[in-house]
Amino acid sequence: MLYKENFLVIENVILKDLVEVYQTPFYVYSKKSIEDKIKILKSVFSSIDNSFIAYSVKAESNISLLKIMIENGVGADVVSLGEIRRFIKAGGKASDIVFSGVGKKESDIIYALKASIKQFNVESIPEALRINNLALSLNVRAKYSFRINPNIDAHTHKKITTGTHGDKFGISVQTLKENIDLIKSLSNIDFIGLSMHIGSQIMSADVYMNAVNIVKELISYLKENGINIDTLDIGGGYGIDYTRKDNGFDFDSFKTNVIPILKDLKLNIITEPGRFIIGDAGMLITRIEYIKKEWGKTYLILDAGMNNYMRTAIYDARNQIKPLIIKSDNTMKVDIAGPICESTDFFAYDREINYVDEGDYIAIFDTGAYGASMSNTYNSHTLCEQVLVSENKHKLIRSRQTFDDLIKNEINLQDHFLDNTYKENL
Ligand code: PLP
Repeated sequence: MLYKENFLVIENVILKDLVEVYQTPFYVYSKKSIEDKIKILKSVFSSIDNSFIAYSVKAESNISLLKIMIENGVGADVVSLGEIRRFIKAGGKASDIVFSGVGKKESDIIYALKASIKQFNVESIPEALRINNLALSLNVRAKYSFRINPNIDAHTHKKITTGTHGDKFGISVQTLKENIDLIKSLSNIDFIGLSMHIGSQIMSADVYMNAVNIVKELISYLKENGINIDTLDIGGGYGIDYTRKDNGFDFDSFKTNVIPILKDLKLNIITEPGRFIIGDAGMLITRIEYIKKEWGKTYLILDAGMNNYMRTAIYDARNQIKPLIIKSDNTMKVDIAGPICESTDFFAYDREINYVDEGDYIAIFDTGAYGASMSNTYNSHTLCEQVLVSENKHKLIRSRQTFDDLIKNEINLQDHFLDNTYKENL
């Protein structure tokens, strides 16, 4: 139930009470929602002997939220040194980390090798060579999978499709086949599996079925060519219902049509969900600064903008938006915009919303994933607070960035230019 009487709630906390404690805009997350989602995923994969959930840290990387993942037995899918360090700082084990990402830097690889992470998901042949060379020089061994780009259309927004040819991610089946000898020659890294991630906010299990079938053929091909793998990472991508009309990812079909294929493979199965775990656990709470009427339209101008939540501006995302207090059954049609000086800084166009006044607060729903983690300080707005709710309690899990934090790397630097004169006869 979202409203208790006319007050919007998260778990047992009335959100209107939180705006008296925290300063808007702020994100608020439900611990129970995260735990419930992890339970659902565990039950989806429960018939597979060895399955492993690696939460995709990029979806939301707050250390307190990562702690919840860790307490619930979930590992991490990371794409940078920063994400590795966050997960470890939260109490996670390096041996529970899968390192994906198309541009792994040498320094990041060295850190991961020294920490002995679970596996690298390698996205190119040069990357495999780089990891091997670094492992050799450090005298360590590492495990890796190749991320396959199966050329499957995930039927999602084109900017969050990652598994078709032409996307920068992974390698083609063809490239893998052409490099079998090279793979066998890499002395310090063990090729243990395949991985894939075909897109985000996917709704249909068929997409996974098609991709897994392609990978299944490739596994047989590898076997015929003397390579036995033991791991398949099927990526993340399970969509959530931003419309709130009971239209989430089709897990029933996934259980019927995909799980049996995975089971038959008799491999360790990894999945890397992000949005499904954290997406609808979070809301962005914001104040209506102005109600502006122009050109026959009514604009709600908020104190949250695309700096706090970018998905509307970059992916045309549509989130439900509701007032913290329903004051009237009457509705008004509004465009909802932020304070940022960009024409794309909108959260909704022509949206019916229960009657609100200036100074009221509203919630932008389902902003837990790719919300705070993608936020930035454009227009010199400071990063906002994050709050965690559990039952009837709430706590700050990220304080608001201060102006001093914002500028600290720009002051007290050397006040002279370094000489870079061109030397002709070098
Ligand atoms: N794994 C990889 C490699 C990704 O790039 C992403 C997201 O882009 C994810 C997992 C998580 O995706 P989602 O949040 O849609 O589950």
